[in-house]
Amino acid sequence: MRGFRLKRSSLVFLGTSSGLALLSASAGAADFEALVPMLAQTANAERISGFYMNIAKFLPAVALFLIWVPTVWWVDDDSNELGLEKAKMFTTMNMLAGVIGLLVLLLVPNIIVGIAVMTLAYLVAALSYAVHRNGQVGDTDKVLTPYHFGELANSFFGLLGAKKKVFNRNKAAAVEGFPVEFIGIDLSTKKMDMFRVAAAQQNELYVEVQGLIYDAITRRSTDIFLEPAQDQLQVRYRIDGVLVQAEPFDAETGPEIINIVKLLCGLSVEEKRKPQDGTFSAKVENRTIEARVATAGTKVGEKVAIRLFDKSNMVTKLHQLGLTSKEEETIRTASEKENGLILTVGPVGAGKTTTAYAILRSLDPLLRDIKTLEEVVEQQLDGIVAEEYNAKSGEPMVDRFKSILRTDPQVVMLGDFKEDDMATVALQAANTSRLVVSTLTGTDAIKAIISLVERGLSRDALSSALLVVTSQRLVRTLCEGCKEPYAPKPEFLKKYNLPEDTEAFFRPPTEQLPQVCGECGGVGYVGRTGIFEVLEITDPIREIIANNPTEAALRAEAAQQRMTSISRNGLRLVLEGKTSIDELMRVLK
Ligand SMILES: [Zn+2]
Repeated sequence: MRGFRLKRSSLVFLGTSSGLALLSASAGAADFEALVPMLAQTANAERISGFYMNIAKFLPAVALFLIWVPTVWWVDDDSNELGLEKAKMFTTMNMLAGVIGLLVLLLVPNIIVGIAVMTLAYLVAALSYAVHRNGQVGDTDKVLTPYHFGELANSFFGLLGAKKKVFNRNKAAAVEGFPVEFIGIDLSTKKMDMFRVAAAQQNELYVEVQGLIYDAITRRSTDIFLEPAQDQLQVRYRIDGVLVQAEPFDAETGPEIINIVKLLCGLSVEEKRKPQDGTFSAKVENRTIEARVATAGTKVGEKVAIRLFDKSNMVTKLHQLGLTSKEEETIRTASEKENGLILTVGPVGAGKTTTAYAILRSLDPLLRDIKTLEEVVEQQLDGIVAEEYNAKSGEPMVDRFKSILRTDPQVVMLGDFKEDDMATVALQAANTSRLVVSTLTGTDAIKAIISLVERGLSRDALSSALLVVTSQRLVRTLCEGCKEPYAPKPEFLKKYNLPEDTEAFFRPPTEQLPQVCGECGGVGYVGRTGIFEVLEITDPIREIIANNPTEAALRAEAAQQRMTSISRNGLRLVLEGKTSIDELMRVLK
């Protein structure tokens, strides 16, 4: 089809000759009173009777001619560009429609009927092409839509020298498509500031930021990173713990996007080098998103990290974490105790805070007075008083902790166990009449205990306080829509002591699918689950901690108790087809 191209010159010729035909055909129409000497003043000053014509016919004919010729050009160009099968047919049809329209106008004595038929012929041909081609292209490329007219207006006023776009495509898209409502709020003081959003809205790219947040949230991102690169602003999301590249902004738009984010946080737009941090909140459909923003200057420009907390996403219960029923039971039993220490251990981003929250959620806030002290309150639980500790306040965290203890809560959750004085006070509280739940950064349960001993904490206090130590990782779960089975190597099964008759492991598709998987967007994974090891602090373990706290001794006893290790629990998920070996190796390394 691409071989057939209309020659512009032939069309002009066709147009011109039909225009002349129109003039000469009209020449005899002297029976109308209102004759205007159209061509009389041209070459010859003398009036030539044959060239008078009816203006009522002439003007519409010229108008149609001026619309019709570019239309045929466009149909020809557009249909060939799109590679439409019926390109030739539509070009011919639009060409003929104009010719027929003009002829009818000339030959039908009634002007109204003539103009109507002419217009109809043009519209039928042009519209039938528009409908046909709109059916073959994406929404943004369709013609005769509000977007299209807006873009036409932009280029028209652009030609006239207008600096500002009269139509903002994204704004229109936002009205229809981004249900994002920003709220200017300082999350640590809970102070609202409506002027922040008003200031951000002044920027016409505000909707782009709405779109960015909407895109990130709908893709289940926990972080957005905006980083300047050569001639653009790179956008990356963290989805299920893995960085994913997203659509970048160009060099012109990028800094504006950053400014809008800073305005939403009430940060200084002028300060582009020194690190700043702030917060805002957003309502996205029925969800409440809290965003913590950090900006900093780099050599090539300003970068921004936005941490997103989706409050609706976090209502995780103990049984949803990925624990085996035995592990869950161990944790439940411990959390029912009146006093003691429960530690949830893991590297950064392994979900240990989610586990601590799930433990709190399993308790009844009506029966027990529960308080939390965290640097960032990630979740607001019903009936639980959450206090946020701000390091900038100058008050030591331990003082804040002590003042909370003076209010006599029965359960305290700590978001931090880093400082030794905090740990000491926590152990004291756990050994008296309080249940303390805390997270601790570390790689596994036994190493965590050893590290506490090495920090110089009292072994006796530790051994009597500890109830259970959990350690965990998060693995991405395979997409059920596209996971691919394959036969595992017998050596591998043997090496890891897995059933020899295992027929299949699963992995994301190794070859490109004919269509991108709708369930995972081609990533191969959807969501994550925890894999745990849960060390119950039994009497033999208590004795080891108090007397001979070595890793080997603890491991031997844990094995005796049949504690399942993280890697073992991970392999179980691989056998069940819930995750892949590669993913397990990635999180365990
Ligand atoms: Zn999939």
